Amino acid sequence: MSRRILFATGNEGKMREVRMILENLNIPVLSMKEAGIETDIEENGTSFEENALIKARAVAACAGPEDIVLADDSGLEIDYLNGEPGIYSARYMGEDTSYRIKNANLIERLDGVPKEQRTARFVCAIAAVLPSGTENEKALKRELVVRGTVEGYIGWEERGTNGFGYDPIFYVDEYGCSTAELDSETKNRISHRGNALRLCEERLKELL
Ligand code: IMP
Repeated sequence: MSRRILFATGNEGKMREVRMILENLNIPVLSMKEAGIETDIEENGTSFEENALIKARAVAACAGPEDIVLADDSGLEIDYLNGEPGIYSARYMGEDTSYRIKNANLIERLDGVPKEQRTARFVCAIAAVLPSGTENEKALKRELVVRGTVEGYIGWEERGTNGFGYDPIFYVDEYGCSTAELDSETKNRISHRGNALRLCEERLKELL
């Protein structure tokens, strides 16, 4: 079987971004569904990096010997809240709670806090598990983890309808607006996930 990249996500939006950024590697990029892999993964790590590795290893265990498996873990860190919601970003206030409510709650928790103390960042860790370089030791795996970030601050109101999750309350100084007001191309160019993917692509180029 020839070489493929499997990205451990069920999210089509992420897949589009991943395909766009990794296309220079000239290796087909498949989602777990496209690769026919179904696995329930418990993200019980204590950092973005650990969680990304847990996911990548779990999918690699079901993948072919030549496959390169990538997985990401991301979230929002707010400095004034000691890094909350952090690795719990998706689970903050409960997985099924709407982002309207989560975002309103975070703005509320920053009530009266001046701009210079409202700093925050989106973080994305990407882990890769790939076959060892030696032809007769394909079962041995190599692992790498990279981190990408985008710095910003929490605004005083929700703005914009693009993006998802915490985008409407995350503002970037360079554009003077929230990331939910940026078109997807601009967001990919500056985003934590875009930055992590570009770093990952560079590292993979050295290894493949
Ligand atoms: P996961 O990495 O797919 O588990 O996502 C973690 C959570 O972090 C998401 O559910 C969102 O709450 C938040 N998040 C990660 N990236 C972004 C982003 O680009 N915009 C808004 N929220 C994000």
